[in-house]
Amino acid sequence: MKAYSEFRFLILSAFLIGQTNPGVVLSQSSPAPNLDGFTPEGSTIERRWEEEFRAVPAPGSAREHLRRLTAEPHVAGTKEDYATAVYVRDQIRSYGISSELKEYEVLLPYPKQPGIVELISPRREKLTAKEAVIAEDPSSSNPKIIPLFNGYSPSGDVTAPLVYVNYGLPPDYEALKKLGVDVKGKIAIARYGNSFRGVKAKVAEDRGAIGLIVYSDPADDGYMQGDVYPKGPWRPASSAQRGSVQFLFKAPGDPLTPGKPAVPGVPRLKMEEVTNLPRIPVQPISYGDARRLLEPLGGPVRPKGFQGGLPFPYHVGGTEHVRVHLKTLMDYQVRKIWNVISRIEGDEEKDRWVIMGNHRDAWTFGAVDPNSGTTAMLEAARGFGALLKKGWKPSRTIVLCSWDGEEYGLLGSTEWVEENADELKQKAVAYLNVDSAVSGSNFGASSVPSMWKLIRAATRDIKDPKTGQTVYQQWQERAREQEPDPELTNAEVGSDTPIAEARINALGSGSDFTPFLQHLGIPSSDMGFGGDYGVYHSAYDSFYWMSHFGDPNFVYHVAAAQLWGTVAMRLADAAGLPLDYRDYAVQVREFFEESMRTARRRKLASAIDEKPMISALKSFSEEAERIEKARQDTVAEIEQTRVEASDRHPRAVARLQRINDALLAAERSLTDERGLRGRTWYTHQIYAPGTYTGYAAQPLPDFRQALDDRNTAHAKEALDRIIEALNRATGTLRKARD
Ligand SMILES: [Zn+2]
Repeated sequence: MKAYSEFRFLILSAFLIGQTNPGVVLSQSSPAPNLDGFTPEGSTIERRWEEEFRAVPAPGSAREHLRRLTAEPHVAGTKEDYATAVYVRDQIRSYGISSELKEYEVLLPYPKQPGIVELISPRREKLTAKEAVIAEDPSSSNPKIIPLFNGYSPSGDVTAPLVYVNYGLPPDYEALKKLGVDVKGKIAIARYGNSFRGVKAKVAEDRGAIGLIVYSDPADDGYMQGDVYPKGPWRPASSAQRGSVQFLFKAPGDPLTPGKPAVPGVPRLKMEEVTNLPRIPVQPISYGDARRLLEPLGGPVRPKGFQGGLPFPYHVGGTEHVRVHLKTLMDYQVRKIWNVISRIEGDEEKDRWVIMGNHRDAWTFGAVDPNSGTTAMLEAARGFGALLKKGWKPSRTIVLCSWDGEEYGLLGSTEWVEENADELKQKAVAYLNVDSAVSGSNFGASSVPSMWKLIRAATRDIKDPKTGQTVYQQWQERAREQEPDPELTNAEVGSDTPIAEARINALGSGSDFTPFLQHLGIPSSDMGFGGDYGVYHSAYDSFYWMSHFGDPNFVYHVAAAQLWGTVAMRLADAAGLPLDYRDYAVQVREFFEESMRTARRRKLASAIDEKPMISALKSFSEEAERIEKARQDTVAEIEQTRVEASDRHPRAVARLQRINDALLAAERSLTDERGLRGRTWYTHQIYAPGTYTGYAAQPLPDFRQALDDRNTAHAKEALDRIIEALNRATGTLRKARD
């Protein structure tokens, strides 16, 4: 899925931080420094291979992949989706890389008929609830485009007064309560934005609504942003956003097999036992349609923050004056989906896996979401194939995963992770996700802090096609142009201070990194080039859109392939794994300090003893320093003992192996098998999607949630578990030194 708004969030929050090294980009005349984790000789060899690799991805073949992948709508489980799986497998095989389909059987609803939204009073009017054919975009008339619907909405047929609930989040319902308006027994209408739509469904249901309509407000991704499609890239009046309303924040994956792989023989829940799906019907509509419902609404004038971009003052409704009929009819079946798993065996450590993943299924054509990423994966694979033919062998195994069923709820990745959990815990080095690789030219990334340096370093070696600078420079300069963060003082943003590093964000959810990081504790990242993207999950996320607005010359697809492959190669080939826990310690301390500020504001701080956490952070930070030094020293020693043919060489190699293992295990140590409160599938103690934020991360999840709930007993328990996790990670790093 990966909401377009998340990319904008990435850009806006990419402010400067005042503490780390200046982002110096070397001029071409300076000698290339050693790549992190490589010996001088290893670094030289690696750079040569990388340059050969980066010369392979090309706009022409990227364009052809995207054209093929977007030729038909390919919703998960359809025969058109299967055809894309075969295309990906056969392409990758043609590059000389082994590739197989991997099937799962998951609960997958399709709409049996288009949803019905009807105004009953003050007048009777059936809404269009259909995206218009656009003459310029040939695929927009494709009869296989799936009707507007929300994945995992139940069937339902309800008629009731309508209430406008703004974004449909708890503070919105509180604002309505002050006006004396509630949604009990009524139909809620919410605008998209500010959170994952499954959260809106959950909150509406909890507040007693009997149905939910979600619409794309023109303020969000329509005409308030700019020209609409096909004149511009923004959402036109008839367009709406499909998407899943699964309760992703509870658990992703097949709803019938939580925690287990959806393969034959695994017992399945009955529908009434499922806990991560909504019980009320949910239906998306366009702003053209929403206008018909919102304009006649009576009741109080909207509270602050509720006004959207339609040209009249919004009212909240809730009276008998406006009644609406909503009907959804779904066909729930267990259906097959197909991952494509491809492997390049590691030459020295074949039981260490660097995993690249991208989903392939789309709500319609998926030119941006997700097949710009699939295109980047195919071009990266083509690059690897070319290197293999020239004799390159990665030290560690590279696994390339094309996921199915992501749009419904990260189905393909979650089932695969659940099936291979034990092996992944042992073998996975890192998981590198790319969902929407390209909707423009603005680079953004999220990752665990141990990977920050690795990602930044790789962006320094990739050319930004538009400016000719590096991707890193473009990224950092854009961050500088953003408004300075209000929390930074003048001194921190002043011109005489060194320019800080571009910001990498926390991983929340909404894409396939979730099972890897938040279920198993595998270091993960997510990245892509964002832009003005107003056709998210619509019939217009098409080849025409991409070739006219997103990336007409397919050069950012090339950059995405180069960057993604470069990061994978460094993780696969480095002698000492480039994972730095010093940044992790700094980040967790920031999360904790931020949480304590919240606690103080809410007058909860006196109930929390900070000392054990401060002490755990100190030990973690010290151990991170030590292992980083040990890693650097050992890589140097390996080089030296090799040159001297010293008998100390095997010992140094063995030590580096222990250090590498500890660097992997440290992230695993941050998980707790007991899981998070009320959502035990999520085990990571530092990163989880927020219960109400959806896509965005809620760092120190249980601690933050307890503070939001003003529950000090829960807060103390959550903090104890975080401290235990940090201490485990510290112990894991320490053991590598003994
Ligand atoms: Zn996606």
